[in-house]
Amino acid sequence: MKYPFLNLAAVNEPYLPALKEAAAKVIESGRYIGGPEIEKFEQQMSDMTGAAYTIGVSNGLDALRLILHGYIKLGVMKQGDEVLVPANTYIATILAITDAGLTPVLVDADINTMNIDTSRLEAVVTPRTRAIMTVHLYGRVAWDGILVETARRHGLKVIEDCAQSIGALSPTRGLYGNTAIGALGDAGAFSFYPTKNTGALGDAGAVTTHDPELASAVRALANYGTDRRYHNIYCGYNCRLDPIQAAMLNVKLPYTRQENADRFERALAYNRTIRHPLVKTPLLSASVTDNVWHQYIIRVTDGHRDIMRERLTELGVGTDIHYATPPHKQPCYADLPHGPLPVTELLADEIISLPISTGTSVKDAAEIGEIINNIVL
Ligand SMILES: *Cc1c(COP(=O)(O)O)cnc(C)c1O
Repeated sequence: MKYPFLNLAAVNEPYLPALKEAAAKVIESGRYIGGPEIEKFEQQMSDMTGAAYTIGVSNGLDALRLILHGYIKLGVMKQGDEVLVPANTYIATILAITDAGLTPVLVDADINTMNIDTSRLEAVVTPRTRAIMTVHLYGRVAWDGILVETARRHGLKVIEDCAQSIGALSPTRGLYGNTAIGALGDAGAFSFYPTKNTGALGDAGAVTTHDPELASAVRALANYGTDRRYHNIYCGYNCRLDPIQAAMLNVKLPYTRQENADRFERALAYNRTIRHPLVKTPLLSASVTDNVWHQYIIRVTDGHRDIMRERLTELGVGTDIHYATPPHKQPCYADLPHGPLPVTELLADEIISLPISTGTSVKDAAEIGEIINNIVL
């Protein structure tokens, strides 16, 4: 493949000496659970987002689960309550909701942003609705005045799935006046899965929040339900962040903004180059920080997506589809009730993800754009 979709070794290559040194330091320290690397990581995340509390956890799915289980322990939610959530998301978002015994209410996507269509929120609020879980999918901030108003009017918690959007800033302020994702709503869940914009060298995640009670509940739940040594207030879990992964992230987090800017350059090169009658390029908004371009997604119309993808593979361009099967079409959710979701289903049939990581150069992106222009379907 001349243009691989994602080469993680290439992405991490600039950091190798610092990563090796940081790993060696942890190995030599003898401190393998908790400790200074975790504290430094949590401080860096709070500084980046503006959230008062960060809890390093095992991965992004656990971050989402711990937030919901935390709210249940605090009596804010109970089993059977409803959470409004975009239908167009990675399945982990929905898994967290059903894992907590809550009911996901799937809301269709906006065709332009591919994020939750906030104009559809009000109509699906019921007396059992307790929260909106917004997902900044593909790196694009999913936050606007309608979402804020709907949450305020009905007293809903707002939880952000920040797995794909680290470092993004919202043009519309959050519930607490902040602009960085992870601090817009009541709680945020981050993933540092290796393919994310800032990836660990294994699994890692974080919970951010403004709420001291939720922060304490999440910290306890992630550590067997322990609030102090050998004292268990909850029947908890083991969802702690690994200090070696925290050390890897302490090396990479200072470069998150630069790497996001580098991704934007690639998105710009694609948007400037691609001119094809059957291809729609993604929205480029006025603000350069409200999308950190976790994925660069084109839509191929008129049922030509699969043939376009085949041709790109033949021509040496690696691609992916995020996601070909939406959560509500997965076998595990065959019994999940939902209304019609035409936009989410259309997207699943039309989208292709092009290479966007820092392992792909701006020149590569322009070349891939030309390759697309020359494909006759
Ligand atoms: C990756 C991802 C998750 C899950 O994160 P893990 O660290 O892989 O558990 C959740 N939500 C979204 C939108 C994601 O992209």
